[in-house]
Amino acid sequence: MNPFAKTLICLSFAACYASEAPVELVSSPEASEPEVKVVAMETEPIAKEEIDYMDISDAEWRERLTPEQYRILRQAGTERAGTGKYDKFYEEGDYLCAGCGNLLFRSAEKYDSGCGWPAYTMPFNEDAVTFKEDNSLGMRRIEVCCARCGGHLGHVFNDGPPPTGTRFCINSEAMIFVPADQAEKELATATFGAGCFWGVESIFRRVDGVIDTAVGYAGGSKDNPTYKEVCYTDTGHAEAVEVKYDPEVVEYEKLVEVFFDNHDPTTLNRQGPDVGTQYRSVIFCYDDAQREVAEAAVASLTEAERFKDPIVTQVVDAKPFWRAEEYHQRYFEKRGIEPTCHIK
Ligand SMILES: [Zn+2]
Repeated sequence: MNPFAKTLICLSFAACYASEAPVELVSSPEASEPEVKVVAMETEPIAKEEIDYMDISDAEWRERLTPEQYRILRQAGTERAGTGKYDKFYEEGDYLCAGCGNLLFRSAEKYDSGCGWPAYTMPFNEDAVTFKEDNSLGMRRIEVCCARCGGHLGHVFNDGPPPTGTRFCINSEAMIFVPADQAEKELATATFGAGCFWGVESIFRRVDGVIDTAVGYAGGSKDNPTYKEVCYTDTGHAEAVEVKYDPEVVEYEKLVEVFFDNHDPTTLNRQGPDVGTQYRSVIFCYDDAQREVAEAAVASLTEAERFKDPIVTQVVDAKPFWRAEEYHQRYFEKRGIEPTCHIK
C-alpha cells in the first residue's frame, strides 16, 4: 500500500471519530475503510479545572509546562525514540494530557509496537483526541492532538494490531500516567502557609503520597487576588500551598511534620528575609480531625522545646484558596533549579 493510501484511510477514520457514539475501529486488509462498531464506555474522562485551554496564550503555556513538555505539546516536537518514560512501560492505569489533564489513553489499549514510543490501538474515546493532516518533514502523516487543549501528542498510523489496525504513536512527555488504583482514589486536601510558596511547594511535592500541589493565596478577604495585590496591599492573604494527598499513603500527621520541619514557626509574619503577613506561618484546617492533629503538633513541639521561641503558627479553619498565577506554580521544578528560598 502506498503511503498516500494509508493517509486516506487514516483521514477516513478521523471522520468516523466525529460521530456521536463511542466507536471502536476495526480494519481489515482488503477493506479500504475501517469498519466501525460501537462499544460501551465504562468511565468518564477526569474533569480538571474549568479553564478554556484553547484560550491559553503561548507565554502562559511556557509558564505552565516544563521546557520539554512545551517543545512537544506546543511546538509539535518529538522525543528521541526509545527515550520516553512510558516507552517500555506497561502498568495498569490512565494516560492524561500533560497540558490539561484530559484523559487520552488507557493501559488496556497500550501495546509494544517496537517503534520506540508508547503505542495504543485507540484513544480513550472519540472525544479525547483530534486529528490533523501533517505534511512536515516531507511526509504525509496524521497528527494526533489533545481535544481539550490542542496540544500535539504524536501521530497515528495504519499499521497497528487488531482489532483497530491503528497505531497511536505518542510522546511520553506529552502525557502523565495515573496508576489505576490512584485514579479511583479519593484524595484529601491540606493547605499550609510557611513563607514564600515556591519553596514550600517544592518540599511538599517530594513527599510520598502527595499527588498534586498548587500555590495560591488563602486566609484573606479579597476574591481572586493577584500576586501584586497580596504583596503590596492589605488583602489579608497568606502565600499558601494546597496539597492533594492520598491518605492511604501519607497521613495528615506526616504533612504537619513536614510543615514544621521546613520553616521557622516562631517568627511572626516573617520567614527569613521575607517580611509581611503574607509570609505568616499558618495551617488551614478542613475539618476537626485536621485541627486536632495541628493543635496536638503545636502542643507537643512546645512541650519538647523543639524551638527556642514560642510557636506563632496560626491554626485556622480553611478559607477559599485562590490559585496563584501560572508562573508561580512548580516554580523551581519548571526552571530545573533547587529551591533557593528560606526552606531548611
Ligand atoms: Zn490537553
